[in-house]
Amino acid sequence: MRGDGGAGGPGRVRGNAERGGRGGDGESGGHADGGDTGTARRAAGPGGVREGVGRRGMLRGLAATGAAALAAPVVAGGAPAVAASRVVSRSAGPFEVLALLDARGTFPGKLRDRFSGAAEEDWRLAERLDPGSFGPGGTWRLDFRCYAVRRPGGRITLVDTGIGPAGSPAAGWAPVPGRLPRVLAEAGIAPSDVDSVVLTHLHEDHYGWAVGPDGAPAFPEARYLLQRSETAALDPADPAMTYVVGPLRRSGQLTEVEGAVRLCGGGRRGGAVHLRPTPGHTPGHQSVLVDGGRRRIVVTGDVLVHAVQLAAPAVAYAFEQDPATARASRERLLSEAHARGSLLATAHLTRPFVRPGPAAALS
Ligand SMILES: [Zn+2]
Repeated sequence: MRGDGGAGGPGRVRGNAERGGRGGDGESGGHADGGDTGTARRAAGPGGVREGVGRRGMLRGLAATGAAALAAPVVAGGAPAVAASRVVSRSAGPFEVLALLDARGTFPGKLRDRFSGAAEEDWRLAERLDPGSFGPGGTWRLDFRCYAVRRPGGRITLVDTGIGPAGSPAAGWAPVPGRLPRVLAEAGIAPSDVDSVVLTHLHEDHYGWAVGPDGAPAFPEARYLLQRSETAALDPADPAMTYVVGPLRRSGQLTEVEGAVRLCGGGRRGGAVHLRPTPGHTPGHQSVLVDGGRRRIVVTGDVLVHAVQLAAPAVAYAFEQDPATARASRERLLSEAHARGSLLATAHLTRPFVRPGPAAALS
């Protein structure tokens, strides 16, 4: 095991696939766990992960040499070759959280190479938690997913914006084009309905649709929320600077926050949406807590990127900028989610909603 958090160590949280949610491969939609009201509608698309110039260069190199099956998800005509997917929703008090699949694809290289600290038992549990993520030949099959929080009155908080169109910065390694605009339409969400866009971090598979084809912000009435520590740490040469941060600053739509922030309330029915710093994957990574009162949903971002980190939170992902900090954020988030019975809404697992819990609950 990488680090000192071996099996059974403090903070180790075993993941438990969400009961009742049929999201085995992320395409089946399905209904909510224990009592949530879920709805599924037709939608579609694939998505990605990012970490820094070194990581980006490596991913492009792997893709270019054919080591990855990145070309596979894209067929002639530019349409992602994924089966029809769905908009899957869960409720939390006055809020509805919709999982929006931007894209699906294969990550460069071999899955196990990205999580070298994982033990065999971790992989066995991960395969039970998210079998869809285990591609042929030891590859990593992943989704690229955004979330929309529909608040009382219908206004929308969007969390992340996927890999973007053909030619977006993720194009060097991710299965572009994504399909988020179509998925939003299928979910009944117009760009003008979105009044806030939370970017969990500035990796290119999370900000791809933040701007439109003309380079202007794609959600004209939204403020875009980033942790100040994320923008402050951004390399000036990072494409995120020119692709998204610059345009948002010029339009006056970038809101840089510091630390935990209450984003909005749920009106008469109570509840609130909060931003929570979860650094490590990147310096200013943040997650979103949708607190509906009795029911909570945590939109994790890349605090965990594969089910093996649900099985064994101490296991690092190869491209975390600060593995020790990332691990601490992950263990804290998963411990709290387990203690509160929260549902996790993840970006890259092939099932949109999972529930942390004791491994024993799987057997
Ligand atoms: Zn990602």
